[in-house]
Formats: sequence, structure tokens, C-alpha cells
Amino acid sequence: MSKKTEVANRQLDTQLVHLGRNREDSAGFVNVPVNRGSTVLFPDVQSMEDPSSMRYTYGLQGSPLIEALQSTINTLEEAAGTVLVPSGLMAVTLPLLAVAQPGMRALIPDNVYWPTRRFCDGLFARLGIETVYYDPLIGAGIEALLLPDRKSILFTEAPGSNTFEMPDLPALLAAAKAADAWTMIDNTWATPLLYKPVPAGFDFSIQAGTKYFAGHSDALIGSVSASERAWKALSSTHQQLGLQAGTEEMFLALRGMRTLSVRLARHEASALDMAHWLCTQPFVKRVLHPGLPDDPGYALTQSLFGGRSSGLFAFVLDGNREQAREMLNTLELFGLGYSWGGYESLAVLAQLDHCRTVSRWSDGPVVRLSIGLEDTADLKADLLKGAAQAGLPTADG
Ligand SMILES: *Cc1c(COP(=O)(O)O)cnc(C)c1O
Repeated sequence: MSKKTEVANRQLDTQLVHLGRNREDSAGFVNVPVNRGSTVLFPDVQSMEDPSSMRYTYGLQGSPLIEALQSTINTLEEAAGTVLVPSGLMAVTLPLLAVAQPGMRALIPDNVYWPTRRFCDGLFARLGIETVYYDPLIGAGIEALLLPDRKSILFTEAPGSNTFEMPDLPALLAAAKAADAWTMIDNTWATPLLYKPVPAGFDFSIQAGTKYFAGHSDALIGSVSASERAWKALSSTHQQLGLQAGTEEMFLALRGMRTLSVRLARHEASALDMAHWLCTQPFVKRVLHPGLPDDPGYALTQSLFGGRSSGLFAFVLDGNREQAREMLNTLELFGLGYSWGGYESLAVLAQLDHCRTVSRWSDGPVVRLSIGLEDTADLKADLLKGAAQAGLPTADG
């Protein structure tokens, strides 16, 4: 324990290498082993009756591997506590369930990750929770939608899925605080390396660890970190629901944490390179990336994320949807697939019609790109080839 405290005081890149590791649990090996286990053996009946002296009691409750990943994420998030779950989507729904009471109102941004909307319109509605969707750029205007006395849940995503509007987080937090609302943010895009929601004032920080934590498109995992006042509700709901991440996935996520900082820096640099280049292309109407100086979210991104950004953004095609289909079908290096944050680049033709209700999308087709670790010259050539195939104009260079 004293050793962990020491690591937490070191520089970030050193922390990522050393957090969660200790010799005793790994018998001297560098990495924490995978503990596959339901049953933990007790030395006698007395210790079953009073387990206070037991480090672990059951596989769902804890293991050295669970503890290693949990404590690593918790240190990065600077939170009161962190739990692990089997997917990013579960990391979204768990904190919602943890604080929900009948008659409450959930405020959800209109550009939210679509399955979050499906949960709110489905199970959450059935439990008697009202959902109100808000324009992601509402800012301080959120005040009018908040119910007083901790009867609201303010949910946000920064930037929002597919269209990457950057919400005014300080304004949202201030209004939520005045109404004593619960606050939660899906922080998957920024990761705790660019933004730490709990010290900033959020009750819950949500991570789809499937994306940058694991980083190799080979694991589904999520984490939720909580503030001091929210931790009890989170840990108790996690326990009541019987949640835990799978052992293999925890191992992969912990392994991914070791290289998170170097991967993220490369994803960031390559995505910015691609975004700037796309701005010069005649087949592009506009680029949706809050790290671009022309983007409406630029100033907020600068101040909240220390000028950093990650590898997922989109562009609006100056063409029709059929041309977008043809362009994407031609791509060789960009895979067509959901999820993002892996080492390989992906493209998705966003479907925005059915997922927005208060801020309808009226611009052209939106192509979302997850920029991987390939050489960007090859990625540009791939997009140029796709655009040409679709009969769209291109520019060299
Ligand atoms: C992918 C994603 C999730 C869900 O993660 P899964 O592990 O795929 O369930 C949640 N939020 C955001 C913003 C995402 O992009």
C-alpha cells in the first residue's frame, strides 16, 4: 500500500508503467497473473463467520488482478473508488441505475452514444425515470431542465458521439450543482489522461475500456469511477447486480494501460494530421474535430483537455449518401466496423436520423474515422482512392 501511494506521486508515464504491480501478487514476475477463480478457500469456519481478516472471500468480490486494474484506473481518475464491468455500455448504465429513484429526471445530450439512449427509452423509462434530451450546446441553459433537490441526473459526453460537439462542462456542472443533481460523464474519448472528471466536480466518470484502455480491439470492458459522495451507491449497486469484468479482459486492459500514453499521443497526432488534411480536400464539406482551431469547441477543448485530443473524429462529405457508401466500400486500410480506439483505423457512415430528437442533423453525410497507428500517408491515399471511386473531387498533397 505504501508503495502504491509512492507511485501515484510520480509522473504520469511512470505511473502507467508501475501502477497496480507488486511482487507479492506476481511471485516476482513483471505482470500481475490472471486469477481465474470463483471460490476462495478459508482456513477455518471462524474466518467464514468473520471474514474481516480475509483479503479475498469470493471471485466476484475481488482478486489481485481486479485490484490491480481497479487501483490503476482509480489513481488515474483521482476518484474515491472504481469498479469494473463487462462492457462500456454497462459502465454507462450502472451509475444511472446506482442513483435512480422513481420520479427522477435524467438529462441526456442529444448526441449521446446511441445505446445510452436505448437504455433510457427502455429499461429506465420502465422504472419510472423520465428522460429529457438536451441540445449538447445548451450550456448554462440546462438550468431550465433541472429539477431541484437531487431529483435530476445530468449525463454528458465530451465531445458527443459521431458529431463531436464539445459541451460547456463547467457551465453544466455549475447548474447541476445548484440543483444538487447527480452528475456523470462518459469520458471515453478523452480518457483520464486528458480529463479527470471527478476532481473537476463530476460524481461519476465512465470509461468504455474497450476503446483506448484495451486499445487492440480484442476486449470488451468498462470502468466507473466515483466521487466521495457517490462511491457508496456505486459499489453497492455493482455488488447487488453481481457485476465484474472477465479475467482475460482485465488482463488485456491492464496490459493496455502500460502503453496508453504513447498510443494516445500517436492517435492524437495522426488524427490531427488527417483532420487538417481533410480540411483541404474538396470532397469534404467540413471536419468535426474539437481540436481544430476553427471548431466551435476548440476553446473549451484547449482549456479542459489541456489542448489535447484523441483519435476519433468525423467529416461531413460534400456529396450524397450513395457517394459516401461507395467511397467507404472502396477503402482498403480503413475497416468498416463499430467501436474504436484500436491500433487499426476504422470508418463508419453515421446514421443520425433515428438518433436525434431535439437537435436534428441537417448537414450532409457524416463519416466517422477512428485513426489507428498506420502511417497517415497511406491513410490519406486510401481516402483519396475512395473519393475518386465515388466520383468526388480530390486535391493532391
Ligand atoms: C463504445 C462506446 C461505449 C460502449 O462501449 P462497449 O464496450 O462497446 O459497450 C460507451 N460510450 C461511448 C462513448 C462509446 O464510444
